[in-house]
Amino acid sequence: RSSSAGRGPPLSWEALAQYAALCLALWLIFFESPTPQLYRFYLLFLPIVWIALRSGLPGACVGLLATQLSLVVVIEFLIPSTVNTTVYQEMMLILALTGLSVGCAVMERQQAEYNLRLQQDAHARLTRLGSINELAATMAHEINQPLSAAATYTRLLAEELGETDFSIAAARQSADKANAQVHRAATVIRKLRDLIQSGRIEKTRVAIADVFQSALAVMEPELRRAGVSVVTRIEPRSATIIGDVLQIEQVLINLLRNACDAIEGAAGRAGGQAILSAICLSANDLEIVVRDSGPGFRSDQLSFPFVPFSTTKAGGLGIGLSLCRSIVERHDGRIWLENGPMGAEVHFTLTCSGADCDEEVSR
Ligand code: ADP
Repeated sequence: RSSSAGRGPPLSWEALAQYAALCLALWLIFFESPTPQLYRFYLLFLPIVWIALRSGLPGACVGLLATQLSLVVVIEFLIPSTVNTTVYQEMMLILALTGLSVGCAVMERQQAEYNLRLQQDAHARLTRLGSINELAATMAHEINQPLSAAATYTRLLAEELGETDFSIAAARQSADKANAQVHRAATVIRKLRDLIQSGRIEKTRVAIADVFQSALAVMEPELRRAGVSVVTRIEPRSATIIGDVLQIEQVLINLLRNACDAIEGAAGRAGGQAILSAICLSANDLEIVVRDSGPGFRSDQLSFPFVPFSTTKAGGLGIGLSLCRSIVERHDGRIWLENGPMGAEVHFTLTCSGADCDEEVSR
């Protein structure tokens, strides 16, 4: 609801001008000539209609009250003997009816505008959501990783405690890691909720090395289980990006998980390798590539990439790559798939923040 409709006229320059116009009209009626000029009463309609148009019914009521009080003061105390009070009260009645009618009409219009805005907001939210299915799939996909990592750490903790000579330090480390993953899942849900409500993402400046490190920490149990070793390459080492850290990490986690699945799924391979690289392309562009030593993308996936819900995995949701694309595009970047000499490659660009990349590019 607009503030003016809810609380009467706001105390602004316009409100002061409206009250000044009221005073001017009263002065012209009662004090400009030696005797009051009743025919000039119409002048009061101007400020009252102005107030009602701008501030709706509450504003009109305040304006009419101020006018009525001023009339009483003028007629009763300042020039009592010269005027017929009844005539002025009749005129005041017409003025009040006019002001209130205009105020009501304006309030109805404000209400209609408010309802329309509510509908538009709801529509924008639905558009952001895509569909309930997509939201549920996104939610399941994004919190699956931290929750399964937390489960692994609590299992390790239980195993450690089951040992006769268990180490408190190792148990504490597993408990801390499980705790961090549960917090991560909660943050993912909060951010997703914020995104649905406001459509905004929280962008900060962050070192890409830190983003790589956090994503690798989340993926540690899965990488270990799949026997995948990861090499990172960052040029320049101090490169920083501007973006929503958790979402960029999510992209890397999705891609690393796909790399693990691809390597595990390839018949006859025991373990494999993934390479995470980040290289400044220009003063503002950083290219990140996730490569793996799996069998690579199928040709239909290269021709029609990022189709949501298309998966070749038994338990897959088919939403990881399309989620990566929407996150990268929300950060004004591009994302594409290739097959390189090693295997599958996913490339994407992000905005890097100035100085560090400048140095590298000018070298
Ligand atoms: P999901 O992992 O749930 O299947 P994705 O959208 O992440 O969903 O991936 C869609 C499909 O793309 C996968 O089912 C797989 O066939 C293929 N794919 C993704 N990443 C790779 C990769 N690194 N190597 C080979 N194929 C991949």
